[in-house]
Amino acid sequence: MIPYARQLISARDVQAVVDVLKSDFLTQGPAVPRFEDSLAEYVGAKNCVAVNSATSGLHIACLSLDVGSGDIVWTSAISFVASANCARMCGAEVGFVDIDPNTFNISVEDLEQRLREADRAGRLPKVLVVVHMTGLPADMQQISELCSKYSVAVIEDASHAIGASYQGERVGSCRYSDLTVFSFHPVKIITTGEGGAVTTNSLEIGRRLRLLRSHGVTRNPNDFLNENNEMWYYEQQVLGYNYRMSDIAAALGCSQLDEINNFISRRNQLARRYTAMFKDLPIALPELPSDRSSSHHLYVAQIDFERLGFSKAEFFSGMRNRGVMLNVHYRPIYQQPYYVGLGVPGSSFPNSESYYEKAVSLPMYVGLSDAEQDHVATSLVEELGFV
Ligand SMILES: *Cc1c(COP(=O)(O)O)cnc(C)c1O
Repeated sequence: MIPYARQLISARDVQAVVDVLKSDFLTQGPAVPRFEDSLAEYVGAKNCVAVNSATSGLHIACLSLDVGSGDIVWTSAISFVASANCARMCGAEVGFVDIDPNTFNISVEDLEQRLREADRAGRLPKVLVVVHMTGLPADMQQISELCSKYSVAVIEDASHAIGASYQGERVGSCRYSDLTVFSFHPVKIITTGEGGAVTTNSLEIGRRLRLLRSHGVTRNPNDFLNENNEMWYYEQQVLGYNYRMSDIAAALGCSQLDEINNFISRRNQLARRYTAMFKDLPIALPELPSDRSSSHHLYVAQIDFERLGFSKAEFFSGMRNRGVMLNVHYRPIYQQPYYVGLGVPGSSFPNSESYYEKAVSLPMYVGLSDAEQDHVATSLVEELGFV
């Protein structure tokens, strides 16, 4: 069976983890700061804080910007639910922005219109969570200009996008945002098992993230609110969580990060092969604006099942019978029963609705061989009756 995604673990990765297991520290040792420094350098950010998932990272990213009850946070209607849940975890309300039909990222026009209306209604969001869908960076410069105009902070949910660049800089540099959050779940570009990281260029936000990640506790005497020289003294200053990454995970992360350029170039190659194989078919393929590069976490083809007279469910089961597992990223978040229950209005997202009808994620991972990819392509062509 060919899955839609899977990790690639090398003998070197295994050795890196074994080395930690034989060392003095399984957590809070040297591997986490090493991973953080490598990530900060790779993406070009001043601060990096590793956490145990992107979901945790999004949560403390919102908290570091003082998101709380009475606040509103907006995100893309097409994303994984965690992009919206982080706001709910802080007690804030969630609103959505429609996508651009060509890039599947937040539509700048829709954002502009919604901001104008929200401003008039006195209901501007405090934060916008921008998603780099499939690994393709969103229009960050325009988004950041709009958000500054209305004093909205920006968090990049770059769970798909480590290794992608925008205007010649890596995603995570935070040139156009306050913070960027990465995921290292096994289906993503590099993995730590479970894990995530947050980057920021603000020292103050970095300090808050470190507190929030570990119980709100600091052991750094320079940060103490009380005067105290006792060796065992530590201070809890805010309500925090245990969102720490273990050294076991971080060692795997360091080893995976060493391979990231190879991973990204293989993903690019696979994306180009799909595009070449399907370019003459009546299928909409991903676009790549020239001022950015994608990490190709996902390869989403848009198939107009209605026009072809097929049901998406039939197509999925036909492909599965040929050994190919497909997926859909994502159902609009406002359609999830939890958000329907909250009464988040979902009526005005035509691009997200039509995207969801057509979107199919084809297998895309570093270990996918050319032969396997050819099998995926042939199966698709035959299942849809294009032969
Ligand atoms: C995977 C993903 C997350 C959550 O990542 P975890 O590390 O599993 O918590 C959040 N947002 C998006 C867009 C994702 O794809």
